[in-house]
This record gives sequence, C-alpha cells and structure tokens, in this order.
Amino acid sequence: MTDYPAKLQALRAQLAEVSLLRGISAALYWDQATYMPRGGAPVRGQQLAYLTQQSHLRFTDPALGKLLDDLLPYAESLPPDSDDAALIRVTHREYQRATKVPAELVAAISQNASESYHVWTAARPANDFARVQPYLERTLDLSYRYAECFAPYDHIADPLIADSDYGMKAADIKALFAELRAALVPLAQAIADQAPADDTFLHQHYPPEIIERFTTEVIKRFGYDFERGRLDQTAHPFAVRLNGGDVRITTRYPQNTLSDPLFSTLHEAGHAMYEQGIKADYEGTPLASGTSAGVHESQSRLWENVIGRSYPFWEYFYPLLRSLFPQQLEHISLDQFYRAVNKVERSLIRTEADEVTYNLHVMIRFDLELELLEGALRIADLPEAWHARYQADLGVRAPDDRDGVLQDVHWYSGLIGGAFQGYTLGNVLAAQFYAKALAERPAIADAIKQGEFGELHGWLRETIYQHGSKYTAPELIARALGKLDTAPYLSYLRQKYGALYRL
Ligand code: ZN
Repeated sequence: MTDYPAKLQALRAQLAEVSLLRGISAALYWDQATYMPRGGAPVRGQQLAYLTQQSHLRFTDPALGKLLDDLLPYAESLPPDSDDAALIRVTHREYQRATKVPAELVAAISQNASESYHVWTAARPANDFARVQPYLERTLDLSYRYAECFAPYDHIADPLIADSDYGMKAADIKALFAELRAALVPLAQAIADQAPADDTFLHQHYPPEIIERFTTEVIKRFGYDFERGRLDQTAHPFAVRLNGGDVRITTRYPQNTLSDPLFSTLHEAGHAMYEQGIKADYEGTPLASGTSAGVHESQSRLWENVIGRSYPFWEYFYPLLRSLFPQQLEHISLDQFYRAVNKVERSLIRTEADEVTYNLHVMIRFDLELELLEGALRIADLPEAWHARYQADLGVRAPDDRDGVLQDVHWYSGLIGGAFQGYTLGNVLAAQFYAKALAERPAIADAIKQGEFGELHGWLRETIYQHGSKYTAPELIARALGKLDTAPYLSYLRQKYGALYRL
C-alpha cells in the first residue's frame, strides 16, 4: 500500500520551494521596475535569470515527476472537485509541459528574448524595423521549434496558445473571432459616421497625487486590499503577485491625460483582486495563480470597463472627481464626462483603443501570428501586411512602423503565437461574467449607484477568484457560465454605444 499522505507532503514541500523562488523573483522584478537605480540593471538581470533557471530546474526535477506518477492513481480515487486531486492533476499537467521542452531550447528562447527586447527598445523610437528583423526571424524559428516539442497538434499555434490560454485552440478562437468581427466592423463603422465625442478636457494638467487620491478611494471600494498590496509608478502598468499576502499594482501618470492613469489603475486592481482572492490554502502550489490569460483579463476588463466606464459608476463618483479637480471639470457635466471616457475612434494604437475597436486590433495580431506560423507570411513582409490589415479593418494607416508593427512589446520579448487572444477572450468573458452575476444577484446594479461593490466582489470571489488554477479556463467557464458566448458582450456593446451614439 503506497503511503499517499507522505508522498503528497513531499510533493507540497518541493512545490513550496519552487514557489519561494518565484516569489523572490517577483519581488526583484517589482523592485527593478519601480525603485532600483539604473546601475543595478546588469546584475539584477543575472539574478533574475539565475532564479528562473533554479525554479525551472526544481520544477522539472525527475524526482517530482516520480512523485506525481505515484500520486496520479490517488488523485483519481478522490472526488474530482477535491483540492488535493486538483493539485496533483494541475501540477502533473504543468510538469508534463515543462519537461517537453529541452533545457537548451528554453535557454535559447530566453537569450533571444532579452537580446531582441534590447534591440526593439532602440528600434521602435528610431522607426527601424530592419534592425529587429533578424531577431524576429529567429523568434519565429524558435516558436516553430517550441511548438514542435508538443507535436502532434491540430494547428502549430495550439501549443503556443496553450501556454497562456490552456484548453483553447486556434480553431476555436478563429471561429469566435469571426463571429465577433462580423458584428464589430459594422458597429465601428456606424459610430465612425457620427460626430466624435469631445474629450479635450481630459487632456489638460491633472496633478498625479490628486488622481491617485481618487483612484485609491475607488479601488478600495472595489475591494482591493491595501493591507496586502500597494500602488506604485512604472513606465508600463502591471500587477504582480509576490505571494497571497502581497499583490502589488503599478500605474503611470503621463502628462496631460486623466484617462490613462485612471483606467490603468482600475485595470491593474482587477488583476490584483483576482490574485488576492485565491484561497489561502493554495499558497506555495501551482494552484495559487489566476487560471489563464483570458480569465485574468476578464477580471481587469470587468472593473476597468464594464464597471469603471459605466454610467451608474460615474453617477456616484463624478461628484468626487469634480470636487478634486474643480478647475479642470468646472463646466463639464456628468453626461459630457461619460461620453468622453467612452469615446470611440479608429485609432492606430491597441493599448489606447476604445471598447468597440479594441478587439479589431487584437484580431489583426492574432491572424498575422497564424499566417507567420503557417508559413504564409514572411517576417520581411510583416510591416506591409500590418498596414494592409489596418487599412482594411480600421480604415487607418500608420505613417510609419513605430506605430505599426513595432508598437507592441510581445513579439520582441517572447515567442510569436498565443500572445494576444487573451485580451479579446477577456472582453467577451468580462461581459458574460457580469451578466451572470447580475442574474444571480440583482442587488449588484443598485449597489453600484451607491458606490458599493461588496456584492459583486463577493460573487467574483466565490465564482472565480478563490479557485485560482484549480480549474482550467474551459472548466471554470463550464461551471460558472455553461459555455463561452459572445451574445452578452455584443448586447452590452450595442446597448451602451447604441445609446451613446444614438444608433
Ligand atoms: Zn491586463
């Protein structure tokens, strides 16, 4: 008779060590992005690479594989809903994936990513695609080699998609995107025919410390726990989990804009509340993180857009905002403000795009990734393919590659494939989760007008947050929603923007 409890304990002990190493990396990464002096960069890079290598070695240790093999029959004997069964199942899956890729390839990918990122940081401002082209060719080659490790697959992008959105395949996403596209292109077109909303008053001086006073109040009310988190400034906003008791967020305060810091902060707080809400028992195991890129993004989008750009939200919060910025907003009514923060326009930059056009930016990138991986598009032809798609889908063309193919960091700091679909899955899921929450707890809607979010936060914690990675995204969706469905999202957009633009 195998001593399962002892083996399970041994498994937990080994996983705890991996988790400690990852938490230390996260702390060093946070420090690097916030307060580290420039001089610390070279050695900090080595420290992070070392810790990543150490945690990878420990996680791919054959002794861990042996423990997992021994424990699989035990997991199968438990109810599928049990936490122990989930721990064994999820760790086994991640172990299988991690050990399929040879260490030499992992090293080559990470080496290429850091070189390519370094070159990109200079090439983008210089509008010089030629400089990154050889790196990107190598990235594509490494992406093939990486995907090959998981053969057989239905589509070469599938293994890359599985890294961020496990359980989703290229074919599912293509079908979902086709459905969305058919609805979004005419909606964007109909709005583009109307007079644009005036948002000039959002572009004036708003002192960062006062914006922060406001956003801090909002995210506290959302349920972001400052006893287990903090808010700092970085060039690019992010949320990072050091451990369950310490999930931090960052934002930025570009000159003369209110929207960017405001909504970036709400967005990152959404990611962070997910991580803060994971069951404390999962600490030190692979269950202690959000389950997929798409589900994670659904939580940031829900708070940022579905709540943070809604009329009831601003009914409550606009008086406070206006009292903090009496000069800037003196002549601006609630309705004018609401229209401005929901302005729709055909733009060039994904990260600045509105709710209606955002997914069109994502689809362009997703399709180009597939074409590259399928061998239907060469890297040399990528800049022009980018422009052609923007012209066709959004009716705009960037004047250069800086705001074209060079705009997003993803392809220059990792692999090609699976990098973007999570954003759109997140938008669709945010609306679907919210519709479900409202159906189950109708009091949520009235509470928002009072600036109360406890009911919504509680539903999200119960339905999504607490589970961490216990369920894959498709499992979580099946439990909470039945199936992934674009209808709630499309009706949300049609209702909201139909009213705003009198369609
Ligand atoms: Zn996000």
